[in-house]
Amino acid sequence: MMCADCEMEMNHHADKLNLVAALDDAEHIDPDLGGVLEEAHTCPGCGKTEFQIAT
Ligand SMILES: [Zn+2]
Repeated sequence: MMCADCEMEMNHHADKLNLVAALDDAEHIDPDLGGVLEEAHTCPGCGKTEFQIAT
């Protein structure tokens, strides 16, 4: 994904299990994990972090 601020390619550096998001985003729940898996992306330019639901 691209940074919204500086349009650089963001680095995917971590996955995060979001148990709170699963409460109102049932269709994305991973049944094995019991939550929604999100990918954390960080911009090398400005350091901004964005989360995206893992596909
Ligand atoms: Zn940026």
